[in-house]
Amino acid sequence: MIRATETIPVAGPWVTEREIEYVADAARNAWFSNHYEYNRRFEEAFATYVGVKHAVSLPHCTAAIHLSLAAAGVGPGDEVIVPDVTWIASVAPVVYVGATPVFADILKDTWCIDPRSVEAAVTPRTKAIIGVDLYGSMANWSELRRIADRHNLLLIEDAAEALGSEYGGRKAGALGDTGVFSFHGSKTLTTGEGGMFVTNDDYLHERVMTLRDHGRPPGDKLFLNTEIGFKYKMSALQAAFGLAQIERVEELIARKRQIFDWYKTELKDVDGITLNAEPQGTINSYWMVTVIAYPSYGMDKFALMAAFRERNIDTRPFFSPLSSLPAFAERPDSSAHMPECPVGETIAKFGINLPSGYHMTEEKVQTVCAAMRDILSSTS
Ligand SMILES: *Cc1c(COP(=O)(O)O)cnc(C)c1O
Repeated sequence: MIRATETIPVAGPWVTEREIEYVADAARNAWFSNHYEYNRRFEEAFATYVGVKHAVSLPHCTAAIHLSLAAAGVGPGDEVIVPDVTWIASVAPVVYVGATPVFADILKDTWCIDPRSVEAAVTPRTKAIIGVDLYGSMANWSELRRIADRHNLLLIEDAAEALGSEYGGRKAGALGDTGVFSFHGSKTLTTGEGGMFVTNDDYLHERVMTLRDHGRPPGDKLFLNTEIGFKYKMSALQAAFGLAQIERVEELIARKRQIFDWYKTELKDVDGITLNAEPQGTINSYWMVTVIAYPSYGMDKFALMAAFRERNIDTRPFFSPLSSLPAFAERPDSSAHMPECPVGETIAKFGINLPSGYHMTEEKVQTVCAAMRDILSSTS
């Protein structure tokens, strides 16, 4: 049996001296009147990279989704259309604001929300659509935009997994009315924990700035809160780390694409598997190399993961359909909105994420692929 000599983790960052220097500098100097300087520089560099007017650094991406919904006034009685297959953070904030998530199916190739399924889910109560660029793949943003405009809906782009991906020449995060990013330790760009809200809309930006600071309008020095808000801020220490990372973003994305390429080359002769798609007109930054092993192998994702574990290799399961989770099944309001999502169910059952962190070398990729061939040949 092929086995990695040292455990190969599934994810991890690329940290250089630059990150360490900036954080050390922030620890010494990012106080008093400089306390927001690293955040300002990180936000400015990030907005320039994504090609948007405003960027707001936050403690996590979940906060960015929460603020997007709250800023647009989405609340009780409203419905928000979301993909059935995504990380739960895409959808939990819909519940935080008292609205109801309505699940839509995903597409077979990109694994992103299916515009036809979105269209079918629109009702007079629908207020927003959350599209997710899953594992770096771009959703069909021109169709989603058309549906949002036709029904006057807020369009949120969850680009947590897609920093550096592109759709029609525009960067992920710039395609919705608001865009959101995560800098969790496993993500393409990290600050340990962290997130970013982006928008071109001055009104939504102003609302987010107020709501994220306990209802203090930007510039308030008198502590005269105008409403009850939230407290969602990123520390200067994290922003310093993030600034170093965004200054290296081209190198980060190039490495992600390199890792995917190594896998693609190694696995090209394996029948009955599918990897991340990169349809015409898009660029995929391949946050996580993901493989769907078709049912003919007779192994679902959990069986595959166990086989890799035996071989000292860490993997992750494709996200399970949210409508299948106890977290949502026990919510009578959402369970009323659970149409069948057959495409998502099949993909989510047989998909796993292979080790895709910045520790991956061509040799480690070869080890993982040898293990993959070993596992699949033992079943057929
Ligand atoms: C990671 C992730 C999030 C949440 O990010 P946090 O920073 O952990 O809040 C949201 N959506 C998707 C698709 C993610 O992968």
